[in-house]
Amino acid sequence: MAAAAGSGEGGLCRPCQVKQPGFTGGTLDRADRLRHDADALAAAIADPRARLLKLTAFEPELDGEGRLVWLPMDAVPQGAELALLGLEGEEPRFAARLPDDPAAGPRTPELFAMLAAIRAEDAAHYAAARSLLDWHARHRFCANCGSMTQPFRAGWGRHCGQCGAEHFGRVDPVVIMIAEHDGRALLGRQPSWPAGRYSALAGFLEVGESIEEAVAREIEEEAGVRVDNVRYIASQPWPFPSSLMIACVAQAEGDAITIDAHELEDARWFTRDAVRAALAKDPDAPFGAPPSYAIAHTLLSAWAEEGVGAESEPVA
Ligand SMILES: [Zn+2]
Repeated sequence: MAAAAGSGEGGLCRPCQVKQPGFTGGTLDRADRLRHDADALAAAIADPRARLLKLTAFEPELDGEGRLVWLPMDAVPQGAELALLGLEGEEPRFAARLPDDPAAGPRTPELFAMLAAIRAEDAAHYAAARSLLDWHARHRFCANCGSMTQPFRAGWGRHCGQCGAEHFGRVDPVVIMIAEHDGRALLGRQPSWPAGRYSALAGFLEVGESIEEAVAREIEEEAGVRVDNVRYIASQPWPFPSSLMIACVAQAEGDAITIDAHELEDARWFTRDAVRAALAKDPDAPFGAPPSYAIAHTLLSAWAEEGVGAESEPVA
């Protein structure tokens, strides 16, 4: 059944070789060649095998087998803007929005429950469609001259007819990381989280910063811990609305913690055994793990189970 193949319960991610991050593992060929070929794109739209992702105010619908619902193209509303998500085999797959449709509203607990249960590729296809359509809704006007823009490149960009500027779907990089010290991982919690949950620290990259610099800055700002030797583990698109989560592990110079109370309610060091118990949802675990579709879960799994940073693990 669908739940057994949930987006966070799969095996290893082929390109990153750690537990499959949520919203990755899509099976569509993004078919960039069709974005530059008006005739080929028109043929794809007219292809009887073409399908439209069913979305209602950015919420997906699932069929009786727990799969995303794809509609025939006659379901595309009059005047809609189409985005070519890609090809499933040879079948074109689209998403659509009306030019005046509002941007996505707050994400709901029901949506997250659905995303935790559906297949990895379905979560990935939904995430791409949501993030792309939401970007169109939030970027209707040219950031250069203020004129109304029009979609181009099969829905992967917007073009300004006034000044000629081209705008492309936005991605906002976020670093998410654990510091490790003497075989323990630094995790924090925010007041808004479910009781008992601890997770990796995170923050947006700033202009003019490398990933490694952002990791070091965020850990020091939020927890007062200085780190070096930042190592990249894996990444994840996070479609609320357009983040790219970049998961890293860093070595802490010491274990004294000074939290920034504006960011965190608490931060603590946890052993690998504690992290393993939390990931296993052991009722005796000292904290609650982040949900399986969050890359923090992937990051903690990699650290706990695959010996990331094992050079600092005490000899057993
Ligand atoms: Zn312009």
